[in-house]
Amino acid sequence: KEKGRNRASYYSQSLHEEVSRRIELERELRRAAVENEFVLYYQPQVDCMSEKLVGAEALIRWQHPEKGLISPVEFIPIAEEIGLIPKIGDWVLETACAQLQRWNKNTAGYGDNFSISVNISALELNQQGFFAKVERVIEQYEISPQLLELEITESTLINSTPETAQILKALSDYGITLSLDDFGTGYSSLSQLQVYPFEVLKVDRSFVQSIEDNDDGALFLEAINALARVLGIKTVVEGVERETQKMWCQKLGFDRMQGYYFAKPMPTAMFEKQFL
Ligand code: C2E
Ligand code: CA
Ligand code: CA
Ligand code: CA
Repeated sequence: KEKGRNRASYYSQSLHEEVSRRIELERELRRAAVENEFVLYYQPQVDCMSEKLVGAEALIRWQHPEKGLISPVEFIPIAEEIGLIPKIGDWVLETACAQLQRWNKNTAGYGDNFSISVNISALELNQQGFFAKVERVIEQYEISPQLLELEITESTLINSTPETAQILKALSDYGITLSLDDFGTGYSSLSQLQVYPFEVLKVDRSFVQSIEDNDDGALFLEAINALARVLGIKTVVEGVERETQKMWCQKLGFDRMQGYYFAKPMPTAMFEKQFL
């Protein structure tokens, strides 16, 4: 009985701690959005055969004044829940486009084909005026629309509305490149490729990472690549960490690769030093 009581109080205490931690995190996240404590890291994407740089994915981090760098996995879901996503998403889009303009202007040789990919949350996509916002940023920074890739996950599209389809069509008609992120992990991958105007398919890293575990990994990759070819969709393989994985991608004939084997996401200055 004694023990039981202790346990009950232990549980309620830890629950209490969890709740107050969460409240604290929300408060800090609101502050971070006002003070703009976010940074964008960039991870290179390379052409599959030549292994030359062709683009970068912008990935947000929270530069917390005491706790250091916080992963998007930890704060993006909370930001979505407490309504901070439009604001943070605007900042990401704006910052990435300003960066794209600088890199394309100042970097000889990349001019016309270096692209930046930006992750878009479901809440942004379904927001009023999202298309107009993208259009304004593209015009302001004088970017060719096809050099901006918007990455949308399969799970985002699960709760899609008729408006979602309209927005995606408008973006695509305007020339923006739409990319289906985490392909193969959702429930309705194939129908999404049929319904929406995706030009790029990002093969989830679980596929390339299962190559060494079992032979099926390679078979799945081969089938996904064949599907993309038939549909005229470009491919990016995510999560390439080892040379053997890279060689498989080249053998199977994908378009682009991204992963720790080439580089981890890094701050702007380091990216410029290493790649531009
Ligand atoms: P994602 O869009 O699938 O991004 C790829 C994630 O895989 C990144 O994690 C990247 O650092 C990691 N990664 C890259 N190469 C490798 C590899 O070779 N091996 C392994 N194990 N991982 C690799 P990160 O930066 O922590 O981002 C996590 C997720 O947070 C992203 O997944 C994306 O869904 C979300 N996210 C990041 N930035 C933004 C943003 O600006 N806006 C929104 N809405 N979501 C974002
Ligand atoms: Ca992504
Ligand atoms: Ca992904
Ligand atoms: Ca097209």
